[in-house]
Amino acid sequence: MIKRSEYLRVRQIAADMIEKAGIAITQEEIEQMQVVDLGLGRLAIEGVQVVTFFNTQRVCAKVIALLPNQTEPEHWHPAVGDDPGKEETIRVIKGNVYFYTEGEDNQKYGFIPEGKEDCYTVRHETVLKPTDQITLMPGEKHWFQTDMDGAVMYCFSSCARDLKDQFTDPAIDRDTVIVDDEEVIK
Ligand code: ZN
Repeated sequence: MIKRSEYLRVRQIAADMIEKAGIAITQEEIEQMQVVDLGLGRLAIEGVQVVTFFNTQRVCAKVIALLPNQTEPEHWHPAVGDDPGKEETIRVIKGNVYFYTEGEDNQKYGFIPEGKEDCYTVRHETVLKPTDQITLMPGEKHWFQTDMDGAVMYCFSSCARDLKDQFTDPAIDRDTVIVDDEEVIK
């Protein structure tokens, strides 16, 4: 759950980051930005900001902004009906991204969010800098994080069905709920 004031504040920070990375976005795209706390209520630690340029039955393009030290939790994209699951390529535009996939645990630069050791099981670290990219096949577990400067990246993929994504952390709910500030005070 995110308070509307928090949503608007973080949305503006992410929009500024995206524009500073040299990616032009419209006001309409800013207004449609997803600020995703995954139902965890600790957006600054675990969450992600996403602008979707388009998402058809076959192709999807997004830009993702990660706030300083923010982590997108471990997840994978399962088969949905006839679709074998989302294949995606993340390409870094600005900042450093610590990307984790299956393989030898060589974690050096990133960190496991405190108290969540069980929810981050793949720990093969790849450091991505601007122009670096990584491709994830359907079903492949992954998570990623940035450093104190934050990061902006493109995500090109087959059709995104975000609400079907699977997360290792059982506490996660992909469908972010935004509530008016007054409702929180009640
Ligand atoms: Zn993914």
